[in-house]
Amino acid sequence: MFDDLRDLYQEVILDHGKDPRNFRKPDEANREALGQNPLCGDQLVVYLELDDHGVIQDAAFVGKGCAISVASASMMTELIQGKTEAEADALFGRFRGMCTSDEEPDFADAGDEDMERLQVLSGVRQFPVRVKCATLAWHAMNAALRGEAQVSTEE
Ligand code: ZN
Repeated sequence: MFDDLRDLYQEVILDHGKDPRNFRKPDEANREALGQNPLCGDQLVVYLELDDHGVIQDAAFVGKGCAISVASASMMTELIQGKTEAEADALFGRFRGMCTSDEEPDFADAGDEDMERLQVLSGVRQFPVRVKCATLAWHAMNAALRGEAQVSTEE
């Protein structure tokens, strides 16, 4: 149990949780969505600046949440900048797949650098409640791209 918890709160997660990247409201944002996870109390607003070609020029977030939800949002905003909507959605799909998979993933072999970085969050697989924390910002990003104002993990 303690080993599992230690894995879950690895140094990278704590670092992003305490010092989140892109924690701001961008002036140029043209998409935004509120993500709520009532089970844990996480509330995050994700902001995107999408250009005319559907490329995410900027991604940021504000709000309150546990270390897992904030760390995941922080990493997400770093990873989706410069990606197209489709690429960001595809990464969300791979991330969600990792969080709900029975097996410990290994993305280094697959050459998937984005997922290799997100793999520090794979410990949530053993904690179903935590999966909602880890995927919250991603659901909000997805909702923002679809033009929806908010999304909840309990719907
Ligand atoms: Zn949480």
